[in-house]
Parts: sequence; structure tokens; C-alpha cells
Amino acid sequence: MKIIVCIKQVPDTTEIKLDPVTGTMIREGVPSIMNPDDKGGLEMALKLKDEFGAEITVITMGPLKAEAIIREAFAMGADKGVLLSDRKFAGADTLATSNTLAGALRTMDFDIIITGRQAIDGDTAQVGPQIAEHLDLPQITYVEDVKYDGNRKLTVKKATEEGYQILEVETPCVLTVLSSANKARYMSVCGIVEAFDKDIDIWGFEQINVNEKKLGLGGSPTRVAKSFTRGAKSAGQLHEVEPHEAVEIIVNKLKEKFIIR
Ligand SMILES: Cc1cc2nc3c(=O)[nH]c(=O)nc-3n(C[C@H](O)[C@H](O)[C@H](O)COP(=O)(O)OP(=O)(O)OC[C@H]3O[C@@H](n4cnc5c(N)ncnc54)[C@H](O)[C@@H]3O)c2cc1C
Repeated sequence: MKIIVCIKQVPDTTEIKLDPVTGTMIREGVPSIMNPDDKGGLEMALKLKDEFGAEITVITMGPLKAEAIIREAFAMGADKGVLLSDRKFAGADTLATSNTLAGALRTMDFDIIITGRQAIDGDTAQVGPQIAEHLDLPQITYVEDVKYDGNRKLTVKKATEEGYQILEVETPCVLTVLSSANKARYMSVCGIVEAFDKDIDIWGFEQINVNEKKLGLGGSPTRVAKSFTRGAKSAGQLHEVEPHEAVEIIVNKLKEKFIIR
């Protein structure tokens, strides 16, 4: 079985703080990490590899420094790594990003494509489903667990707002996985040593199969027109009153803010 896991290097958003004076984000010193949902997806692939044997390729689109998460994936047990890096890919929105990744995936052999449900920086959860559409493959999103019959059938547990669904799908297919699906394994010591000797394939536009017009800023139907930091909350008000008066004050405040009618 061949599994390709799409992984993205993201700033660790739990480490981002606001400058209390300027109200802007402090980016300095914020570490880059493998997106948590992608790590969940990689662990799911590694478990399938442990059980059935599989070749796992990780792929990422990003700058050359994104090589770090490919090496991390090697140290966890991934077999091959592809880094998509080209000026033509820059400035991509989710459609152009998914077109770039699909352009690479078209040239590769796979049974299962795994992506994370969502990246913690862009936060759109669109890239996985868009890849499935570009490649005309069935997709299951919000995956918490997967069972493989050893042939072509996957039985998948998909989280929903009310509970979960059990779905069956045939390979080839696309799954988008939640970080809560499992506890990702640590890199092994041998893995870390070997990870630095392994080759990473660096691909540009020439190596992938996609129309150039669909890539980068030119292939992006959306533009970020403005980005800003949400203002800090103002100080609260203290009312020292009887409980029934407190209820009235709270209800009126909620109505004022259109939280309740
Ligand atoms: C107009 C515009 C310009 C932009 N310009 C830039 C830019 O210049 N540079 C920049 O870095 N970002 C840029 N972005 C942000 C970029 O669009 C998103 O980071 C990217 O499309 C992924 O979307 P997301 O982060 O919401 O991922 P999601 O859709 O939330 O990700 C879902 C899953 O898809 C996979 N995935 C997503 N992105 C990648 C990737 N790059 N490689 C491998 N797998 C991936 C992962 O498995 C991930 O868990 C721009 C966005 C817009 C709208």
C-alpha cells in the first residue's frame, strides 16, 4: 500500500502573544512546527504501515526551510519526502495551494492521500477536500479512526457535531484527519540520525502536472485585502446587587450585544 501524507509547516500559534502596547502579534521567537492535524494524519499512516506494511511519502509545499518537518516525518517513520518549492507557487490561496499539491500528486502512485483536517495558521480546512475534487477522488473529512480490510476497503470513523458516522470507502481516496485521532509517536533516536542522511526530492513547476495559470497569486481567486489584530477586550463592569437584579443586568447586556433576543 502507498500512502501520501500532506504536511504543512506552521507557526506554533499557541506561542504567539500580543504586544500589549501596540496590539500587534509578536512573531519573533515563535517556533515552526508540523501542523498538529497533519501529525495525526502521519501517525494514522504509520499505524497502517505497522499493521499492513506501507510506503509512506510526505509532501509539503513551502519554502526550503520546510525541509525540517520532512526530516521530522522521516524520524517518525516516513519513507520518502517531497518538497514543492518554486516562486511560481508563491502567494497561493487555498485553491492555488490545492492545485499545486494535486499537480504533484497526479505524478505519484498512491492508494490513500491523507491531509490534516485544518492548518492552525490558515485555518480554512479547504485544502484536503479541494485536492480530492481536483483528482476526482472520494473524500472523508474529520477522520478519527480507520480500519483497512487488507484489500481496497477502508472503514472510517468520521466525527460530526452530534457524534460520529461509520463510512466505507474504496481506495484510492482522500482522508482529512483530526489531531485528536491518536497520540503521535515520538521521533526515534535511530530515526533522527537516519533522517539527516535521507534525500528529499525538491520539485518545482517542471516536475508537476498542472496548468501554470492555476498556481500562485495568479491562480488565486481570493486576495487578502487587509489583516489586523482583533482589539483587546475592554475591562468588565462590577455590579454589587441582589441575584435577581444581576440576572436582569446580564440578560440586558446579552440582548444589547445581540447574543440573545
Ligand atoms: C491571497 C492569499 C495569498 C496568500 N499568500 C500566501 C503566501 O504568499 N505564503 C503563504 O505561506 N501562504 C499564503 N496564503 C495562505 C495560504 O493560502 C494557505 O496557507 C494555504 O492555502 C493553506 O490553507 P490553510 O492554511 O487554510 O490550510 P487548510 O485547508 O486548513 O489545511 C488542510 C490540510 O491541507 C494540507 N495542506 C495545507 N497547506 C499545505 C501545504 N502548503 N503543504 C502541504 N499540505 C498542505 C495539510 O494537510 C493541512 O492539514 C495566502 C492566502 C491567500 C488567501
